[in-house]
Amino acid sequence: MEPSYVPAQQDEPAKKAGKLIMQICQSLIGGKPVNSNLPVIEKRYPATGEVIAHIEPASGEMLDRAVEVAQQAQVSWAKTDAFERAKILHCAASLMREANDELAHLEVRDVGKLFSEAVSGDVPSGIDAFDYFAACITAQNGDFNKWDNAIGYSVRVPLGVCAGIGAWNYPMQIACWKSAPALAAGNAFILKPSEETPFVAQRVAELLQAAGLPNGLFQIIHGDADIGAAICAHPGIAKISLTGGVETGRMIMSQSAHSLKRITLELGGKSPLLVFDDCDFDLAVQTALDANFYTAGEVCSNATRVFVQRSIADDFIAALTAKAEALRVGDPMARDIQMGALISARHLAKVLDYVAIGASEGATIATGGQQLQPQGFENGYFMQPTILTNCTDDMRVVREEIFGPVMSVLIFDDEDEAVRRANDTDFGLGAGVMTKDLGRAHRVANALESGNVWVNSYNLLPPGLPFGGAKQSGFGRENSAATLDAYSEIKSVYIQL
Ligand code: NDP
Repeated sequence: MEPSYVPAQQDEPAKKAGKLIMQICQSLIGGKPVNSNLPVIEKRYPATGEVIAHIEPASGEMLDRAVEVAQQAQVSWAKTDAFERAKILHCAASLMREANDELAHLEVRDVGKLFSEAVSGDVPSGIDAFDYFAACITAQNGDFNKWDNAIGYSVRVPLGVCAGIGAWNYPMQIACWKSAPALAAGNAFILKPSEETPFVAQRVAELLQAAGLPNGLFQIIHGDADIGAAICAHPGIAKISLTGGVETGRMIMSQSAHSLKRITLELGGKSPLLVFDDCDFDLAVQTALDANFYTAGEVCSNATRVFVQRSIADDFIAALTAKAEALRVGDPMARDIQMGALISARHLAKVLDYVAIGASEGATIATGGQQLQPQGFENGYFMQPTILTNCTDDMRVVREEIFGPVMSVLIFDDEDEAVRRANDTDFGLGAGVMTKDLGRAHRVANALESGNVWVNSYNLLPPGLPFGGAKQSGFGRENSAATLDAYSEIKSVYIQL
């Protein structure tokens, strides 16, 4: 495959992460970058605001070609033994592990998140998906039935061509969590990364090809919502897995209705963390901080509503505030920095607006709330870790997803009240419980209306633990054996004896 981008240098000085040669990002169709004549989309490095790439959006004809190539490649891939498919996916995982640092650099340039987070979190978690789903597919069995004069069996068969449409916050994980089960199950896969994050998926494509994945099975279509809509409408695509906002989820469903696509939706959240007075206090403070300021708060399952029991609330808020004020914000590549940049100027403005809305609704800005201009990164999209106190359940900052480093603290008196208020949301992606009482941990985990509940931890997703939303946070699960079912369907065979 011809490289369609210039890889980041691993030893390059941190501050130059955004000053690489301008790249042209083109869609990858049949293993080759393909140029398009449509106006380019500018990609900026979030830490400096510099334009570092021009993305050439794909045309409808390019999408047609990609689907045609995918359909051809998928026929023989589906016939390839699961064990042979798994070998290629395991090999891809090994090559990606060797390229872990390089992939993390690309992720920093994509998102502006900390290198330390990308290198230890997002990138390895994406790579693990290839090993995990390769193992799952080799262990998959069908069902067998027997009657008087007949037998029947059922097997899972691939859907054909599947597509992934990605958000910008976890481009490596999104690319891998969607493509690995799709490929393992015997499908071809087309990825439309977010227009904000074109880089890391391109390298994943190259490494998959280096591992022996035949051309046409993993292709990239660049562009914005227009090409996303064309993917939804395309009759040759059987399934779409979206990671994105709730409104986009609705659009994807309606745009895909005519062709009756299978759909997985990983959408937004406004997740609660319930901090009981019997918790490990220091652990609870650190968990609340991590669950709000990791990746500058741009994590769908973040616990942005922190409910604290009244008896410890004052001490808790004081400890939270002191620790948030001590967080160092700046160059995503620097080792001593603890929070990087937000994705774009537009998104930063939206998050700052929410802080102002919170203040106008009566919340107190206990700390933060301002844009930051770290030395040498004055044009980047940074802001202070922000904690809002004196919040009430009806405030917009408490009800709506902000997707930035803004935590709302709410106070409760007893367990029933905490659960009722935690569930009083249209979302249901994540939830956390901080308590040393085992009975309470199980009781509250059971009562929370959420696809994922973490007890005395938050946002941990080892391979095999299903991840996905309840209520308006979407449907379908990623990161587990159940995911394979969503990329295949059952075929039953009845044999008269
Ligand atoms: P968006 O919903 O704006 O976009 C997601 C993707 O959908 C992008 O690739 C976007 O294209 C594309 N898209 C937008 N409109 C359409 C359309 N009409 N048809 C087809 N495709 C379309 O989300 P963001 O990228 O802004 O990401 C933030 C959101 O993602 C948050 O709400 C967050 O909660 C959610 N999210 C959910 C996760 C989960 O696992 N549940 C994980 C991470 C994020 P483009 O942007 O390129 O124009």
